[in-house]
Amino acid sequence: MSRSARTDPRAPPAVAVVGGGAVGVTAAADLAARGADVTLYDRSTLGAGSSGRAAGVLYDAYAEDVDAALAARAIERFRAFDRSLPGFSFTPCPYVIAVREGDADAEAVPAMVDRMRAHGRAVSVVDPEPLGERFPIATGDLAAAAVAENAGWCDPASYVAATGERARREGVAVQTDTPVSLAGDGPELLVGDADRRGAGRGFDAVVVAAGAHTTDLLGEAGIEVPVVPYRVQALTAGLGEAGSAGGEAGSAGYDGPVVYDEPMVYDATAGVYLRPHPTGLLAGDGTEPVPADPDGYDRTGDDWFVESVSATLRERLDVVGPDWAADPTGPDVERAWAGLCTATPDGDPLVGPVGDPADRVFVAAGWQGHGFMRAPAVGELVAEGVLASLDGIEAREPASPWIDAFDPDRFDGDEEFDIAEGMSVERRSGE
Ligand SMILES: Cc1cc2nc3c(=O)[nH]c(=O)nc-3n(C[C@H](O)[C@H](O)[C@H](O)COP(=O)(O)OP(=O)(O)OC[C@H]3O[C@@H](n4cnc5c(N)ncnc54)[C@H](O)[C@@H]3O)c2cc1C
Repeated sequence: MSRSARTDPRAPPAVAVVGGGAVGVTAAADLAARGADVTLYDRSTLGAGSSGRAAGVLYDAYAEDVDAALAARAIERFRAFDRSLPGFSFTPCPYVIAVREGDADAEAVPAMVDRMRAHGRAVSVVDPEPLGERFPIATGDLAAAAVAENAGWCDPASYVAATGERARREGVAVQTDTPVSLAGDGPELLVGDADRRGAGRGFDAVVVAAGAHTTDLLGEAGIEVPVVPYRVQALTAGLGEAGSAGGEAGSAGYDGPVVYDEPMVYDATAGVYLRPHPTGLLAGDGTEPVPADPDGYDRTGDDWFVESVSATLRERLDVVGPDWAADPTGPDVERAWAGLCTATPDGDPLVGPVGDPADRVFVAAGWQGHGFMRAPAVGELVAEGVLASLDGIEAREPASPWIDAFDPDRFDGDEEFDIAEGMSVERRSGE
């Protein structure tokens, strides 16, 4: 046990959380719930970063032990918040991972599923024919598939808004439209005009959960982390009017949009996922595996992305029967957008103490496309980890909640690496 990092151990620890995305709001609420005096800063509005642009696909189908445990805890919390968090709902829905014939990844599916099952996840290999009998999706072109049962979807913006309210109820001071920079030594923040040196406010600890801006923000304090933003895309599409297809079709008196009410599907060969959405369905991926400028990237979806996703939807959902399945111009895309994910050299996030002194500044970033679904568990981990660090428990002690595999110190910070797409079967199978 080392010294306590706190300036006044009798007072509640003063913690600044920088970044009001899903991770930051959860960490802020959970820190306050554990007695910390928390200020949450966002340069814009809550959810203005990646969290407000995410697809809201949620599952616990991970092949590594810590990932599986964290994701399982996150789904457990999503389910609990569905019952307890006003303004938030979680919709359970199986998640199908499908690999087409001719794709070498098909061979990796059984090993991937074995590893997920070894960590207690409810995932099974399902042959294409029975898969097609269970769900009305096209399976004739598939070589292998798996179904994850503990999965679902939600509206990410509503999670951030509802958790922001939970944070306020727990006593968090929420400061939006407030850009923050790390100034000088230690966790002194410069709040407001980032060029006005000398107006900093001191905290016992600062949590940096600034998404795609994390590298720049920590860089101001001389802390280098290899967290690189890259662009991904999503769209929503209509399925026509009630009566033509989908979950609400045939409901007596229903005259709203037809909603795709079948499983979420990740077509791994096409690199496209889809899920139900209140106006039809939501689909995405469209990864651009090159670094993106967090202040200057194109926020609208590319034409190539819309075209390739539309083609996949026509192929994969032809048996669902929406009007557009046989129409080479369909579906009716309502909105296509882009946002940023963050990559790291090994695909694992950076979560824990960083820099010097290492028990005062903490980072939570680098989710490789899976930050939203893990946010309820990561926020909780950050809250417990920060408070343990402030109590003098060092990160590598057995009593520390920090996860070794996510230790920010495993990198020098100046690594050069290729950005790898986060959802691939190869990545998840450990092959
Ligand atoms: C199209 C798309 C689809 C996705 N789909 C999924 C999905 O289905 N499931 C999933 O798990 N993940 C998904 N993701 C990834 C997910 O969005 C991110 O991993 C997650 O939202 C990251 O949350 P965060 O809180 O770390 O960061 P963010 O939500 O980016 O929040 C960071 C916040 O920090 C603030 N900030 C930055 N700099 C400063 C500063 N200097 N001062 C104050 N505030 C600052 C920003 O304004 C922002 O609000 C998707 C991403 C995109 C773009």
